[in-house]
Amino acid sequence: MISEISAGTRICGLIGNPVEHSLSPAMHNAAFRKTGLDYMYLPFKVTENNLSGAIHGVRSLNFKGLNVTIPHKVAIIPFLDELEPMAEKIGAVNTIVNDNGYLKGYNTDAGGFIRSLTEKGIDPGGKNIVILGAGGASRAVSFTLAEQGADIVILNRRQEMSWAEELTQNILRFFKSSIKAKELNDANLKSVLKSADILVNATSVGMSPNIDQTLITGKLIRPQIVVFDIIYNPIKTRLLAEAEKAGARTIGGLNMLVWQGALSFKLWTGVEAPVDIMKKEAVNILSKTV
Ligand code: NAP
Repeated sequence: MISEISAGTRICGLIGNPVEHSLSPAMHNAAFRKTGLDYMYLPFKVTENNLSGAIHGVRSLNFKGLNVTIPHKVAIIPFLDELEPMAEKIGAVNTIVNDNGYLKGYNTDAGGFIRSLTEKGIDPGGKNIVILGAGGASRAVSFTLAEQGADIVILNRRQEMSWAEELTQNILRFFKSSIKAKELNDANLKSVLKSADILVNATSVGMSPNIDQTLITGKLIRPQIVVFDIIYNPIKTRLLAEAEKAGARTIGGLNMLVWQGALSFKLWTGVEAPVDIMKKEAVNILSKTV
């Protein structure tokens, strides 16, 4: 973001509800400042009833792009002109690029998750991966891991098992990956964690303010496993602390958040994002709020 805003300044933004606590404005504006690009990023609280109007606004005002967050990641799809293949398979969009009124949707949550693994030298192909939860974030994570050829087990709470089963069926329509859904209980956890290479927490358990909660304690975690908690607030969740104590490698959700932002930045600007600056900005804010 440059200090002088002009008619040439390109606008990007976030639509969702709520948007007040999002780290994206700070991350993207810091990245625009660093790269000297004449762009700015603003958060917009948009209700379900106003989604159509918001998209008209993006076209009429020629915004360069948007991030889309809860609750609009699925509902936004009918308003777009095209979806990249992964966003189409996942059935959710978190990034829109506006090319003179032609809106294309992407899912950079998926790419952000994979980049967080590969930047640590971890290739998920052929690995046994246990994913906790079958909600929105789990969809992006599960599809992208299936695309990479991982062997996946999704564990979900009993009352919502239908979500996990539907998710595995959807994934099997597109990928030949081995994928199963099981109930999230102690016996299943114990059994699947014996052979797991990577454990991903894609539930909201442990997220601020409930920072003492975890679905798994250190007793079940072997030191050979990688534990990836996609929660980014707090930066170190109780699960990550337990995994660290058990001697396992850990990856926090802040990496995924920063990478999904960095991939959106590249889509809007064509320029590689200054990932370190974006991460520093996010860490600054989070360390003040926890
Ligand atoms: P969501 O769609 O509401 O899904 C939440 C999931 O958590 C569901 O599978 C739900 O299970 C499960 N869950 C909640 N409470 C539980 C409990 N007590 N025991 C077992 N399972 C429980 O939310 P989401 O959008 O997927 O987000 C999930 C988390 O990921 C949030 O903390 C979010 O901040 C984080 N996230 C991080 C990134 C990143 O870039 N790092 C991106 C997206 C999301 P049921 O289906 O049984 O209710």
